[in-house]
Amino acid sequence: MSLDIDMSNYWMPFTANRAFKESPRMITSAQGINLFDPSGRRILDGSSGLFCVPAGHCRPEIATAVGEQLRKLDYTTPFQFSHPGGFELANKIASLTPPGLDRIFFANSGSESVDTALKIAFAYHRANGQPSRYRVVTRDLAYHGVNFGGLSVGGMMKNREGYGSLLPGVVHMRHTQTVKNSFTQGQPETGADLADDLLHAINLYGADSIAAVVVEPIVGSVGILVPPKGYLQRLRQIANQHGILLIFDEVITGFGRTGTPFAAETFDVRPDLMTMAKALTNGSMPMGAVAASTEIYDTITNAAAENAIEFFHGYTYSAHPVATAAALATLRIFEQEGLYERAAELVAPFQHAVSELRSLSLVTDIRGYGLLAGIDLATDERMGQRGYAVLRKLFEAGLMVRVTNDTIIMAPPFVSEVAEVEQMVDIVKAVVTQL
Ligand code: PMP
Repeated sequence: MSLDIDMSNYWMPFTANRAFKESPRMITSAQGINLFDPSGRRILDGSSGLFCVPAGHCRPEIATAVGEQLRKLDYTTPFQFSHPGGFELANKIASLTPPGLDRIFFANSGSESVDTALKIAFAYHRANGQPSRYRVVTRDLAYHGVNFGGLSVGGMMKNREGYGSLLPGVVHMRHTQTVKNSFTQGQPETGADLADDLLHAINLYGADSIAAVVVEPIVGSVGILVPPKGYLQRLRQIANQHGILLIFDEVITGFGRTGTPFAAETFDVRPDLMTMAKALTNGSMPMGAVAASTEIYDTITNAAAENAIEFFHGYTYSAHPVATAAALATLRIFEQEGLYERAAELVAPFQHAVSELRSLSLVTDIRGYGLLAGIDLATDERMGQRGYAVLRKLFEAGLMVRVTNDTIIMAPPFVSEVAEVEQMVDIVKAVVTQL
C-alpha cells in the first residue's frame, strides 16, 4: 500500500522539504522497537525516535493513562491553579535527580526547558543581589534547542546563522572533540584541561558578569561527544569558585541513556540546574522540565513579597494534565521493568558491536557512551552529502537512525534485546560497506 498524500502544505522541520517529496519516508504505525511504513515494511528504531522512546513504541500503559486523564481532566490553567498530577510528577522526578535538585518547573519541550533554565539563572542572580551577571558561557558544537535563548547558547553554525544578533553576552568555550581522542571507547583520558576555557572567560570578562555555564554532559545532536575524564568536575569546581551556576542540559541524557537516571549521577557532578524532556513521556506527549536546586528556588521565592508571584514565567501547557499522566505512566514502566538497569546491561554489547565498525574504510571516528554512539563517515564532496545518502539507504535497509552532517547517531531503545542491537549495527555495517 502506498499513501496518496497532498504534500503542498506541511513545512517540515529540519528537513530537506523538496527532496522529501521525491522520496517520502513515511511511518504509519509502531510497536516496541519497530516502526512500520505504509506498506507494512518493518524498520528498526535505532535512534529511539529522536532519543525519546526508550521504553518502546505504543505502550498500552501510557495509552490507558492518557485516555483516562483526557476523560477525567483534560486541562486546567497552571497559573495560580493546579492539579495533583503536577505535584506527584515533580516528586517523582525529584526522587531521580541528584540530591538537592528538587524543585521542578514544567515546560513542553527541550527548547523551552533550556530557555526556562536560563531565565531561572538570571532571576537567581538578581534575587541574590548580583544583577550584573548576564553572560552565559557555553560551548562550540552545543545544541540547546531552537528557541532564541537556546539558539544563542548553542554552537552549531547552521542553526545559528541567518537569525540576527541573538542573545548578547554569550561566550563559547572550545568543544572537547580532539583528534588525539579518536576512536576512544567511553570517556577520553585527555582533555579535562579544556574546562579551563571557563577560567579564560572569567579572566576576560570578570566572574561578576557571568551568570551560568551550560553544557550537555554528553553532547548529543552534533554526534555524541563524550566528556573527557575530569572535565565536568573541573567545570563544577571553577563555577563554584566564581559564583557561576552550572547548567546541565540533559534533554538527551536524562532518564537512563547513560545507565543511570541522569548523566549527572553517572559522572558524579551535581549541577545547579538541569533540563530534561524527550524520554520523560517516552515520546508520547510533548513535555520538558527544569530541576533547580533548593538554594535557587529559595533565593528567588524569598526575594519576593508575600503573596506575590515570584517568577514571571510559565507556559499555558506547563504540567499539562495529559502530558503529566503520560510521564507518570512512563516513569512507572521504567521502575516496574527496571529499565535503568536494563539500559546499563545493554551498554557493553552495544558499544562492542559499534566499535567493530572501525574496520570500515569510510569510518573516520567512533565515539560512544551508554546507549549513545556517534559514527563519523569521511565527508564526500560536500559536508552532509554522504550523511544524507546513508540516512536514505539505512531506511531502505530497515533501520532508522539520526544523521547529522556525515555522522550516524545511534541510540537504541532500552527494551531492545542484545541480538536486536547487534542487528541494527549489522545493517549500518552492510550499508556503509556498500557506499
Ligand atoms: N537540548 C538538547 C541537549 C537536545 O538534544 C535537544 C533536542 N535534540 C534540545 C535541547 C531541544 O529539544 P526540543 O527539540 O524538544 O525542543
